[in-house]
Amino acid sequence: MKIICIGRNYAKHAKELGSAIPKEPVFFMKPDSARLPKKAPFFYPNFTKDLHYEVEIVLKINKLGKNISKKFAHTYYEEIGLGIDFTARDLQQECKEKGLPWEKAKAFDYSAPMSQEFIKKSEFKDINNIDFSLTKNNEVVQVGNTEDMLFSFDNLIVYLSQFLTLKIGDYIFTGTPAGVGPVVIGDHLEGYIGERKMIDLKIK
Ligand code: MG
Repeated sequence: MKIICIGRNYAKHAKELGSAIPKEPVFFMKPDSARLPKKAPFFYPNFTKDLHYEVEIVLKINKLGKNISKKFAHTYYEEIGLGIDFTARDLQQECKEKGLPWEKAKAFDYSAPMSQEFIKKSEFKDINNIDFSLTKNNEVVQVGNTEDMLFSFDNLIVYLSQFLTLKIGDYIFTGTPAGVGPVVIGDHLEGYIGERKMIDLKIK
């Protein structure tokens, strides 16, 4: 299983980090060890002093594919979940400045908690119009809607599959909206798709 993450897929988020609006998708990977096991606690890693949350809609790949055409892209994912792309922002900044890869800041153990529940696409009226949000200690910190994505789910599948074979059980984190920010030990994060609570995570 691999986790593919899209960066800068929401214009306002790209701007808040001072990044240019990309002309094609930006992606990076997290290994399978980035997944937080079911019911496992999340511990603040000791190598960062600026851990940020990024709430993202996650696609679960249900079919093996390579060089997928736009017409069939929608058949490669049937379920949609929610995830947090935890980022050591201080390390990422350092990597960016030195022109180095981001893995240290993005791919560490348990950096990709995901909802247990994934929702069937058929339950949504329009998957290109899904509201999602994140609260920290009961205050809304991020609100997004998939219609604001620079690259739609289908376009991401087409693009990524030029480079990577998509396999059953892979995940795609589709990018975070504006409002990313730091967490400290004791914080409580809750993620929602629409009104449905998908993620409940305490920082230990
Ligand atoms: Mg992200």
